[in-house]
Amino acid sequence: MSKQLEWDVAVIGLGSMGSFAFWQLARMGVNVVGFDRYRPGHDKGAGHGETRIFRTAYGEGVEYVPLLKEARSLWRELEAETGAELYTENGGTMFGPKDDIFIKTVEESVHTFNLPHKKYSGTEAKKVYPQINFKENQVAIFEEYAGYLKPELSIEIAVNRGEELGGTVFTDSPVKSIQADEDGVTIFCEDKQFRAKKVIVSSGGWTSHLLPDLKLPLSLERQVLVWYEANNPEQFTSEKFPIFSRMKDGIGFYGFPTVDGKTVKVALHHGGQIVNHPDEVDREIHESDVDPVTEKVKEYFPDLIPVPVKAKTCFYTNTPDEHFILGPAPGLPNVTLLGPMAGHGFKFAPIMGKIAAEIATDKTPTLEISMFDPSRFNK
Ligand SMILES: Cc1cc2nc3c(=O)[nH]c(=O)nc-3n(C[C@H](O)[C@H](O)[C@H](O)COP(=O)(O)OP(=O)(O)OC[C@H]3O[C@@H](n4cnc5c(N)ncnc54)[C@H](O)[C@@H]3O)c2cc1C
Repeated sequence: MSKQLEWDVAVIGLGSMGSFAFWQLARMGVNVVGFDRYRPGHDKGAGHGETRIFRTAYGEGVEYVPLLKEARSLWRELEAETGAELYTENGGTMFGPKDDIFIKTVEESVHTFNLPHKKYSGTEAKKVYPQINFKENQVAIFEEYAGYLKPELSIEIAVNRGEELGGTVFTDSPVKSIQADEDGVTIFCEDKQFRAKKVIVSSGGWTSHLLPDLKLPLSLERQVLVWYEANNPEQFTSEKFPIFSRMKDGIGFYGFPTVDGKTVKVALHHGGQIVNHPDEVDREIHESDVDPVTEKVKEYFPDLIPVPVKAKTCFYTNTPDEHFILGPAPGLPNVTLLGPMAGHGFKFAPIMGKIAAEIATDKTPTLEISMFDPSRFNK
């Protein structure tokens, strides 16, 4: 057994959220250590697949908009600090029936927070974006503060920057368990144990297995990302084609401009198989995975060739109310839960990481987070 080490804060899981908490803590001058079961930027969790949508006109809830505005600035701060290009703000269009709750909440967001946007009828939208076969009875809200992030690179960059600023990283180091007491937390790895004053748990889909006593009501949902070639790829570049999200009754599909100059990524949101553990996610691609996406492509994208050329699996870690988990872990002193993120968290990574860092250093969180209270499920 090696000598026990004392850290101010330990971050368990350097994935989408933990990498950003690690960066923020190092930036604050905190003596921070981070652990990940793999190497940051890996494809075994929820932070991979080339692109992630960023948008501020938020159909999932108007309450998220202040967090998104702050996240937008922080994405740019990490870019400025490192010189990396992580966020392309090419705009986004959210479309669907005008009485759909998602669309109504997008509209409420843009009006409440004065977000730069345009609203089109389906017929008008088709003239602006002929690549999308909008329906006459649909509305499309185009918002400027939308675009896409590069997930793998963002995670790697956040961790590297945290290391440069003095943080310590243990990769390929799964944490087996933690023991929290009034003075700190003991962290048990395979052959070593560590001691930290505070711990942030950002282990995503593994959280129920690391902290079984919390009995968090999480469910892991397999998702599949599918790429299609375009007949005219020059019409799908980020200069010409926005990110899009079409929702109806909680199920939807979304996609991105081409990043390789040839293919366009499209995916369904929800409707995937529920599993118990990240290891149980079926990584094979089946016809039944891609066929429903191809149907959407045929219906909405006349210029995409409806033959999948690539597909990848990933998973959501859902909560019953589809809101995030962020705050003190119930019954575990000195432990902050940062996630899981209910399948829509990537865009928030820098602000979630910052707030978790604030909680772990006994500061008042920058923004309102009571809706993410981890103890809400026990009430
Ligand atoms: C297909 C798909 C598309 C998505 N699209 C979007 C989108 O467009 N926009 C958006 O905002 N969000 C999107 N999301 C959601 C977003 O990606 C997730 O909410 C986010 O990645 C979750 O981050 P996380 O840090 O909780 O999990 P992860 O990124 O999975 O990180 C968890 C980390 O913890 C590590 N870990 C786990 N257990 C341990 C342990 N015991 N010891 C050490 N390390 C451990 C893992 O190795 C992993 O690196 C999408 C998700 C999926 C699956």
